[in-house]
Order: sequence, then structure tokens, then C-alpha cells
Amino acid sequence: MLVDSYNRVVDYLRISVTERCNFRCQYCMPEKPFSWVPKENLLSFEELFLFVKVAIDEGVKKIRITGGEPLLREDLDKFIKMIYDYEPQIDLAMTTNAFLLKGAAQKLKDAGLKRINVSIDSLIPEVAEKIAKKNVLKQVLAGVEEAIAVGLKVKANMVPMKGLNDNEIMDIYEWCKARNISVRFIEYMENVHAEVDIQGMQSEELLSIIGSRLDFEDEGFDGHSPSHYYCDEDGYRFGIIEPHKDDFCTKCNRIRLTAEGNLIPCLYFDEAMSIHEAVKRGDIQTAANVLKEVVRTKPEKNRWGDDDQQERSQRAFYETGG
Ligand code: SAM
Repeated sequence: MLVDSYNRVVDYLRISVTERCNFRCQYCMPEKPFSWVPKENLLSFEELFLFVKVAIDEGVKKIRITGGEPLLREDLDKFIKMIYDYEPQIDLAMTTNAFLLKGAAQKLKDAGLKRINVSIDSLIPEVAEKIAKKNVLKQVLAGVEEAIAVGLKVKANMVPMKGLNDNEIMDIYEWCKARNISVRFIEYMENVHAEVDIQGMQSEELLSIIGSRLDFEDEGFDGHSPSHYYCDEDGYRFGIIEPHKDDFCTKCNRIRLTAEGNLIPCLYFDEAMSIHEAVKRGDIQTAANVLKEVVRTKPEKNRWGDDDQQERSQRAFYETGG
């Protein structure tokens, strides 16, 4: 079992399989990213799997594949199947923009994927295009519908932004509710890779918009999720993720691995240790030692406010998987 210095059991690994993305969401990624990791520096699925086996053997019970856009990486279903075959009980999930999901959902499910979180920031084609810098909506929604049809459990993420999609909170809410998909509204995290004039929305504003239409009860946190959950009068659950706070840190059970092999103890923490060389030479013992050291040094709380007074983070969420 992996236990950190604050007695938290770490059993959730998020793997960013690529930093590349087919969208350029305004809040996440510039048109031309500052730098790309050269393709030859990425770990192959075999190398990533070597580390996954170490992590599972040490006690990891949940793995989420993310990115960048994970579906851009060829043979993702084979990687998922490798993990599933090694430990069928593993809770295997993926976060995706769903653009390439139609035609792939069944294969991913057959490989062992259980759940997906999809980003749905708008239901208006022009607005979705403005946010992602690409005409995406039709294909995204077709992907989501297919995922539901093949029996994947689906959740939706929306990043509400003033003047962009703030008038769609309830439309997205109702769209998700009609499909029994739980929606989570994520407060925009200010960062240097995003467009400068984005104005996010805080949980209080979101709750007041939803509350003007529906009654709901505060259910608090659920397990280790950073999402604060609410249940409306019809029994539909939605969540709000408030990254500007740190009250979810006491229950944090996650660490992150980038496509290059950097193991990161916290989304808001730049320091990382590399397993790159160790897995390249098949050195399981060193990889296990790095994993234990990263867990040992996992910080007590996120460092969101530490960057500077304006709280514009240097972090690229497309690298670390958001
Ligand atoms: N491409 C996939 C997707 O679109 O979901 C996975 C990667 S994306 C980086 C993962 C999550 O991070 C998405 O839900 C996205 O909305 C969220 N995200 C990225 N940048 C963010 C920001 N600046 N503030 C809040 N959420 C952000």
C-alpha cells in the first residue's frame, strides 16, 4: 500500500498518454504550444505498462487515461487491454474531448475501459468552435451518444466562462440530466497558456444560477473526488470543482504520470521525479523506489495561490492531464 506523509492512501494514478491535442481550448492551450516534447522522448505503451504494473503491485486501484487528447494516441485500446488483463478489478477510466470517440467507444469498452469523462463546454456549434478553435460539436455529441449506447459510464465536465458559455449552464445541465450523465462544473484555473482575457466563474455564481431554477441539497464531497456534490429535487447529482480552494486535499489519493515519464505528486506542484530512464532499461526496482519517493513527498495541500499575486499558473494542464 502507498501511504504518504499525511497518512493518505495513494491508490489513484492518472496517466497523460500525450500532451498533444486536436482542440485548442481557450482555457487550456495556445494555438502554438510553447514547446512540444519530441515524440522520441515519449514512453511507449510497453514502457508505460511496465510502470503501471509496478503501481498496481504497490496498491494502485484506479487508473485514468488523460492528456492532451488520449484518443490521438494510436492503439490506446491495446494499452487499456494490457492494464485490464493484468488486473481486471482495476477501475479504468479516461478523460477525453470525445471528438474521436464515435467508432472507438465499443473497442475501448471491450478492452476494459469502464468510465469516461467528456468535456462539453457548449451545446451551440459556433460557441463550441470559438472555445475549441475547431468545428467540433456534432462529432463530440455523436461520440458521447455512442459511449452511452455501448454502456460506458459517462460524466461531463464544463468550464464556465463569462461572456462565452455562461448562458449555457442550465442547457448543459438539462442536456446531461436528460441522459443521466452527472455534470461537473470546473472553475477556470488561470494559467499562462490560456487566452489572457478569460474570466471564469466561481461556485457561488454557479449555484445561484442553478438555484434560481431548481432546489438542491448540498451533499458535500464524495469519497476522494475533488468535486463538491449537490442533488437536485429530482434526485439528479451534479458537482462543482473548486480548484481555488484546497479543502479536497485532505482526501487526495492521486498522483500523475506524464507521457515522458515524469511522476507528479500534485496537479498544482511543479516538482516531479522521472521514471523515464528506469522503465527504458526495464529497471522495476528503481521505478518502484521513485514511486515511493514521490508518494512520500506528496504535499499536504495544493499551492494554487503560490505562483504570484494574480494567480496565473505556469502549469500546462494539457501536459499533466488536467
Ligand atoms: N482532452 C481531454 C479533455 O478535453 O477532456 C483531456 C485533457 S483536459 C486537459 C482534462 C480536463 O482539464 C478537461 O475537463 C478540461 O476542461 C480541464 N481543464 C483544462 N484546462 C483547464 C483550466 N484552465 N481550468 C479548468 N479546467 C481545465
